[in-house]
Order: sequence, then structure tokens, then C-alpha cells
Amino acid sequence: MPEIVNLYSDTQTLPTDAMRRFMCDAPVGDEQRGEDPTVNRLHEAVAALLGKEAALFLPSGTMCNEIAYKVHTKPGDGVLLDGTAHTLLFEAGGPGILSGVILRPMNGVRGIFTPEQVAETARGFGRYTPPARLLSVEQTSNLGGGAVWPLAQITTVCDVARGFDMATHLDGARLMNAVVASGVPAANYCTPFDSCWIDFTKGLGAPVGACLAGSRAFIEDAWRYKQAFGGAMRQAGIIAAGGLYALAHHVERLADDHTRARRLAAGLATIPGIAIDPASVETNIVLFDVAGTGQDAASFCAALARDGVRMGSIGAPTVVRAVTHLDVDDAGIDRALTAARTAVGG
Ligand SMILES: *Cc1c(COP(=O)(O)O)cnc(C)c1O
Repeated sequence: MPEIVNLYSDTQTLPTDAMRRFMCDAPVGDEQRGEDPTVNRLHEAVAALLGKEAALFLPSGTMCNEIAYKVHTKPGDGVLLDGTAHTLLFEAGGPGILSGVILRPMNGVRGIFTPEQVAETARGFGRYTPPARLLSVEQTSNLGGGAVWPLAQITTVCDVARGFDMATHLDGARLMNAVVASGVPAANYCTPFDSCWIDFTKGLGAPVGACLAGSRAFIEDAWRYKQAFGGAMRQAGIIAAGGLYALAHHVERLADDHTRARRLAAGLATIPGIAIDPASVETNIVLFDVAGTGQDAASFCAALARDGVRMGSIGAPTVVRAVTHLDVDDAGIDRALTAARTAVGG
């Protein structure tokens, strides 16, 4: 049996030999004292990339979101976000546990909501409604199938939020996928936001870590909660080096993942019973519905797994997600399509 074709998630990437060597050789120190040269280099690189004054290396993207929410809000405040947002569905209630905020989901299209929805939700019922203090945007939208927020729409939703005196936060777990797909520089996407972050463990292929960015004052506050939430580390340069390596070597190649995702989608669209609009695939996430095959996502994925192909069920019982990344090559896409044809009995 050849190797598994692992399309389950872009979190499944393994560090390459070259990345491991770079991590091995990284100079390190006590990051809590500001004495880890590799962590400091990463802070500078990410602040420059995202166009912010300062940045902060954290163990996970989840902690970036949770710390940002904590800095921007007080208990009882309302956070406006899409109904599919990671902070709402996949962070184990963190915003409630850690910040005591009320999440106010909006019904976007593929994770993308409108300025009108922001205005209506923020207005609420006057003083009966939890005050809207923070707007949270996800670029790209994970449950939206990797949809890219157009820059103009990001700008207008943030303008409306600012009109209500709200802070603005960008969950950029896959921001670099949006950058590569659209050609819009990362800093331009981040300009309208008070805080933003990128993940190194998604398509960028590093084993650990994410980096939050914002004004110097914001990052000063974020340091306090990094300490409080147990995210302050010691010789963290050894993992931060994976992020530095990824920024230097794994950004442009995201375009290959996007090409492969489109090819996977086009192939799936020819299989009877599989519903997918290939034009909806903008980045590295492919969502499709198997209801028409008479199976649910779990049985479809189990059939794929027998042929050494991993995908996952997400969002709805008949929806399957496949995510391309640096450990899936062209031959892997061919094998995935063959396995999908077999799984539907074709
Ligand atoms: C993966 C992900 C996160 C969380 O990142 P971790 O590094 O896994 O904690 C947050 N938001 C989105 C959109 C994600 O896909």
C-alpha cells in the first residue's frame, strides 16, 4: 500500500527535512525576557508582513484569537462574527470562558457577511442588547470552503464597525492563502484591523505556532494575557524557527495547493451523485456534498480510507472537506479521484 493521501486538513503537514535542520540550528534564549533572537526575528518579520507595529509569537492560532478577544472586550460585551466562525464553533467556548463575551453570529454567505448585517446586529435593541465592541472576520473562511473576503468588503465592514466604536480583529489562520490567491498584499488585508494573526501550522507547514500582530500598545496588553493563559514559553526559538522558515520557503508554493484543489474539484464534479461547484474553489479547501450518492460523509470517507485517502466530514452530515497542502502532490490528487469514483461505486 503506498503512502496515505492525507487531504483531511492542512494541519496534517509534517516539517520537511530542510525545515527541521533550520529549527535545529536556530539560536535560542529566554523568550519571556525578550532574549530569544529567533523569536525576536519572527516578531519583526510578522509585524512587517502584516504592516503592524509589533507582533507576538504564541503556541496556537486559537490563543491568538482568545488573547485578542480578551484585550478588546469586557465581560458581557458583544462580539460580531459569522455563524461559521472558528471562535464560535471550534474553540471549546473559549470566548465565554476566558473573556465572558456574548458571541453575536451573523448569517454570511460562505463565511462572508455584509456591512448592512454588521450595522443591524450592532444596533440591536439599544441598551437591551449586549454592546457591540468587537468585529471578528475570518480570512479565508474555513467553513466557507476557503472563500476569500474581497478587500473592498473587508474595508466596508470594518468602517461600519468603527462607526459603532467597535474594535476589529482578523483571524488570519489562512491569510497567506488569500494573499497568494488574490495578489493582495497581507498588509493591505490587515490595514483595517486593530489586530490580526497568521498560523504557521496550516498551509505554511510548520509544526507549532502562530503570530498575533497589532499596535505596540495592543501587543503590550497581549503579552500580559500570554503570560496569564500559560502561553509564555522559554527557548521558543526552536519552534519559532519553523515559522521563519515557512515564511521564506512555503508561501509562494501555496499557489500549487490552489491549483491542485481546483483540479480535485473539477474531477469530483464529473462523478455522479457528488455535488460541487468547481468555481467556488478559490484556495486550498474543497467542500462537496455526497447526498446524491446515497451515502453520508462518514461512510464516503470510510470508503476512501480503504483506498488510502483521508478526507473529513465537516459542517453537515453529507458534506465532505478535502484540503490540499505541501504533502499532497499531483499523483495524490489522481489517487483521491480514483478512490472517490470507487467510493460511489462508479
Ligand atoms: C485552525 C484555525 C484556527 C486555530 O488555529 P490553531 O493553530 O489550530 O489553534 C483558528 N481559525 C481558523 C479559521 C482556523 O482554521
